[in-house]
Amino acid sequence: MDSQSLYDELKEMDTRLSDTAANFSHLHEALIELMEKNAELEIENQHLRERVTEITNKVGQNSPQLSKSRKNLEKLYNEGFHVCNEYYGKRRENDEDCIFCTDIIYGRRD
Ligand SMILES: [Zn+2]
Repeated sequence: MDSQSLYDELKEMDTRLSDTAANFSHLHEALIELMEKNAELEIENQHLRERVTEITNKVGQNSPQLSKSRKNLEKLYNEGFHVCNEYYGKRRENDEDCIFCTDIIYGRRD
């Protein structure tokens, strides 16, 4: 191998090493960016969870208070009558529970 081709080969390798170093640098930056983003999302997620718990607790405090119309339905139901659309006004056989009635009285309506 003459010195010219040895020089050329070294120069080519140097170029390739520089490219690889640049690639490595880009990947490293991208990784750091992803890790920062991930940390931000984790913090945001934590805040949202706290907010959901807060709101759920507030809703929980309000829900035991039935509206007047629901209280009337509850009274009818406890007297042994259906208040659901399916069997409204009919007597509940042997005081059996009815999921349609309980949904109307206690169910959530969002
Ligand atoms: Zn019913």
